[in-house]
Amino acid sequence: MTDARTQLASLLKMQELALEIQGARGVVDGAPGRLEEAENRFRERNSEYVATKERFDAIEADRRARSLELATLEETRKHFQDSLMQVKNQREYAAVLKEIDAAKARIGEHEDAILASMEEVEALSGDLEARAAHIESERSIVEAERTAIATDVAEAESRIERATAERREIEATLPPALVANVRRVEEGRRGIFLVKADHEMCSACHVRLRPQVYQEIKQATKVHICGNCRRYLYYEPALAPSGRPPIQAPGSEVEAVNGGAV
Ligand SMILES: [Zn+2]
Repeated sequence: MTDARTQLASLLKMQELALEIQGARGVVDGAPGRLEEAENRFRERNSEYVATKERFDAIEADRRARSLELATLEETRKHFQDSLMQVKNQREYAAVLKEIDAAKARIGEHEDAILASMEEVEALSGDLEARAAHIESERSIVEAERTAIATDVAEAESRIERATAERREIEATLPPALVANVRRVEEGRRGIFLVKADHEMCSACHVRLRPQVYQEIKQATKVHICGNCRRYLYYEPALAPSGRPPIQAPGSEVEAVNGGAV
């Protein structure tokens, strides 16, 4: 049977692993939402582009139709203009003139419409070009986001797998009753089954501990749970590698490791 200090150290490691698993699960669970957000943003931008493109295409189609008709009208006008030479009397002459005027009027109408549409097409094509470039960059952003999400998920899944295996190994060294109770507390307390005892209190629910209990926690001679929230308690300095409070001046570690060299 392992002693209290070893058991507490094991619980501490298990708690760290549990939080790591929890964080990694968050990444996995949050992935569909992240993907949807990126895709929605793209769809929104894309629909603006599609609307502009449809307007552009409609104007272009109208312009093409008018240009074709314009060519026909010019031919008609030319035909009547030629036949003006062959009229036999004043009545025929007047009738042909009337046809020429009608064709001229239609030609004028189409020319005006084509001119107006050309101006709009010019404005739209500038807008369309900018939007098309934007859509392309949005598309690559979405693609990059999709890849990043897949990478994050794969990484999180492997972390879950590794941490779960590590935790299982630790649990195998502990009394089954302790492991079972840890799991109960963990489920009931949103994953937190081990908290610090500090200033004679449970740091989670701030219930005061009996001096005797606090003493045993400080010395890590016995495994205690909080009488109120049922979480396991530990005194941080007692579980420090040396068994003493970790003393570390800011920056001292860096100096010790590489003598200040960068
Ligand atoms: Zn408590």
